[in-house]
Amino acid sequence: MQIDFRSLKVKVWLYFVLFSIIILTVLWLLQVIFIQSFYQDLKINEIIKIGNTIANNYENENIDNIINESSFKNNLLITIYDANSNIVKSSMFGTPPGPGRGPGSQQPPDDFVYLKQRLLDSGENSIHYTVGGPRMARLFYGCVLSTAAGTPLYLSITATLPPIDPAIEILKNQLVYITIILFLLAFIIAYIFSRHLSKPIVKLTQTAKQLAANNLDVIFEKGNYTEIDQLAGALNYATQEISRVDILRKDLIANISHDLRTPLTIIKFYGEMIKDISGDNPEKRREHAELIMKESDRMASLVNNILEFSKAQSEKLALNCRKFNISNTVHSVITRFHELTRQDGYIFKLELAENLYANADEEQIERVLYNLISNAINYTGDDKTITVQLKNFSGKVRFAVTDTGYGIPEDQLQNIWERYYKVKETHKRAVVGNGLGLSIVKHILQHHNAKFGVDSTVGRGSTFWFEL
Ligand code: ADP
Repeated sequence: MQIDFRSLKVKVWLYFVLFSIIILTVLWLLQVIFIQSFYQDLKINEIIKIGNTIANNYENENIDNIINESSFKNNLLITIYDANSNIVKSSMFGTPPGPGRGPGSQQPPDDFVYLKQRLLDSGENSIHYTVGGPRMARLFYGCVLSTAAGTPLYLSITATLPPIDPAIEILKNQLVYITIILFLLAFIIAYIFSRHLSKPIVKLTQTAKQLAANNLDVIFEKGNYTEIDQLAGALNYATQEISRVDILRKDLIANISHDLRTPLTIIKFYGEMIKDISGDNPEKRREHAELIMKESDRMASLVNNILEFSKAQSEKLALNCRKFNISNTVHSVITRFHELTRQDGYIFKLELAENLYANADEEQIERVLYNLISNAINYTGDDKTITVQLKNFSGKVRFAVTDTGYGIPEDQLQNIWERYYKVKETHKRAVVGNGLGLSIVKHILQHHNAKFGVDSTVGRGSTFWFEL
């Protein structure tokens, strides 16, 4: 079996084991290798502290207590000498260094002579040093005590550091057991943990493979971790979107084929009429030819819409922004609908401020205006009224087109901007639609960083607006 070192499972397991090794190494270093010097440093600090206390309290009346207590607690030999190396005070406890000496015996005079010499040589007020190897060390501390009488006295503190080899030996033995147990535990826990961690990911991968094989009914299962849950949630959302787009795509194809077939049938029908029946009758022939032209226009407009949409989708819109008279643009778009609406009796109520300028891509904005106004014509109510407004709105140009149609249910307001989307109940007339118009509008306005939206009340109509 080959181990995949890039797999999450193996990596987690390796890191876990590595972590245990680091902990064990630190433990070994501290407990076994550096313990002797730790111990010495600790002791030296302790003695310096006691030395300072005695020096500061030397002329206190309970100095004897302080000396005896410190000496008893820490097994120190504390002695005070005068300038002639005579003992002035000595602790009752503490073991002086050297073989065969018991507690309470005095410091060998040689040691003090050496200590005093070093103290005087150093020129400092206090000194400390260690004699002997790491196995059996002796600590010496000396300091000058200044007295009220003016004659200096000398404080000497001596400690013997017992060898700690036996303790280290015990620790070592213990550490061997700890190492083995810890290592085994790390090994097992890491294995279980890493399996547990990677399991939901493996599951997600399997489900994703099913999705790739076009099974849109899959559900990504959540795991025991927030991150995995979020990932599963995101994937489920993506799957929903894919299935929705899939349905819409199929609908679109069905719609487009239907929308193309209807005018084609009509064109063919009237073509045959002209050929067989109305060819000789100029009146009828013109009527039929006009119908053929009208249907061709419908088809052209549908095809144009699809092309525009795919253009807007395929590349990032390159905006050609400049200042232009948007009032004129709105007028010219409305004129384009004139012919179409004249026959059907639509009423345009215009509230257009003149000579308003906008800085935008004129061609694209014209497309937006065209799509919004043609939707209003499509969906307005029986009074066939459409209100178009253009005004200055706190430094911006605000365009709004209002119809009196069915309106859009609130729960669908978000969806209408999406491609291929059509509200079920709305009915339409005059212009061919395919659920792409508003998606193109959204795309263009977003590229202009424009604010846009729709206010709609079911049964009363809708207002689509944008601000530039
Ligand atoms: P379509 O070509 O179908 O009109 P659009 O993208 O322009 O496509 O619009 C998407 C859907 O939004 C329409 O199918 C319609 O259901 C709804 N809609 C758009 N404009 C209006 C409006 N003015 N009043 C009511 N519904 C609208």
